[in-house]
Amino acid sequence: MAAAPVKKPNDSSLPSSFNDDIQKQKYINKKQSHAGNEAWWMNGAFVIIVHIVSLLSFLTYTADRKTWVMTFVICQLAMFGITVGYHRLWSHRAYEAELPLRVVLGLLGTLGFQGSIKWWVLRHRLHHRWTDTEHDPYSAAKGFWFSHMGWIFKRPHYPRMKLVDASDLNADPVVRFQHKYYVLLALSCGLGIPTMVASLWGDALGGFLYGGILSRTIIWHSTFCINSFAHWAGEQLYSNEVSARGNLLLAMMTHGEGYHNFHHEFPKDFRNGYRLCDWDPSKWIIFTLHKLTNQVPNVSRVPENEVRKAMVNMEIIKAQEKSKKYDWGIDPSSLPVITYEQYKQKQEQEGKEWILVDEYVLDVSSFKDDHPGGAKILKNYYGKDSTKAFHGGLNDHSKAANTMTAMFRVAKIEKSQKEE
Ligand SMILES: [Zn+2]
Ligand SMILES: [Zn+2]
Repeated sequence: MAAAPVKKPNDSSLPSSFNDDIQKQKYINKKQSHAGNEAWWMNGAFVIIVHIVSLLSFLTYTADRKTWVMTFVICQLAMFGITVGYHRLWSHRAYEAELPLRVVLGLLGTLGFQGSIKWWVLRHRLHHRWTDTEHDPYSAAKGFWFSHMGWIFKRPHYPRMKLVDASDLNADPVVRFQHKYYVLLALSCGLGIPTMVASLWGDALGGFLYGGILSRTIIWHSTFCINSFAHWAGEQLYSNEVSARGNLLLAMMTHGEGYHNFHHEFPKDFRNGYRLCDWDPSKWIIFTLHKLTNQVPNVSRVPENEVRKAMVNMEIIKAQEKSKKYDWGIDPSSLPVITYEQYKQKQEQEGKEWILVDEYVLDVSSFKDDHPGGAKILKNYYGKDSTKAFHGGLNDHSKAANTMTAMFRVAKIEKSQKEE
């Protein structure tokens, strides 16, 4: 492979002492690789503080039962905002949604405290396009911890972001508005509203700690599990090209997003759980809205035929892997090629216990006594062509018998030389 051409640097911050392009490029490369490894202290500190407060709240503060219920509801709503909204609608355009539904999903997604729709979707598109590579923001190839949370502590550096299409996001007024006022919206929806609601039953602090902080931690980890667990444990029913896997337990924790293998293979499909029995409430919500309301005019489905082909391909791959465990005999390409005359001569002169079936010379010395039809029949064919007898002339041998002949191959006969 040819080396990448040296790009002409145009960074105005370059030291003026550099006197050639190569020197400047080395400086830029060093800066970029440093940028990729630079810790993101602000973000990391925020995430750590939220975790510590969550733990302390859980251990030391007894919340009102209503606050617990509210926290549970917040987690559910926020997760659906992420799965139905951020992920399937905005990241993958897996269905169409009218403005009122987009506004609701935008607000619910904001509850998830996972960045604006635009911020989240662009990274997710990078993840799909360059899965498991250095350009995947939460690449599973960098280890479980990195894909789960480690990436949050690194300052983002995505040189391929400019290749990701953001035109649909920029054209959506809900996305633009949410992106512009994200911090205000996230703080009010994520922290303000739970505090105010819980104050109705006199547990404002519980509302803040449980509905505001603890619920954030739960929702985060639910989403993080998709990047870590779903690229680590589970079945690969549709593809093995990337690390994505499918997993019922994870699907139950993530409103259906755990069927990640199907999703990576068919990201435009509104279903992640393709099978009827798969636990995918996000799919059911989208489908119900599509059938019963005017808010979802269209849903995208991959043709059944394509999904079935992917499944069959995986079954073939798995069967091939399984077949490697067994001895299937000698590879025909490694056999010496001899003439029919040479076969006969060798049998006659050296007393070889050889027979000929199809174009293969078989040494049956170790097998003759186990031959179900008796050794005598085999001996009658030493030095002769037993193809017709083998394939029905005397007995139409089973598939297993055909397969077993490969174990006794010692040579291949040139087809033109074989006696008709
Ligand atoms: Zn993934
Ligand atoms: Zn996705």
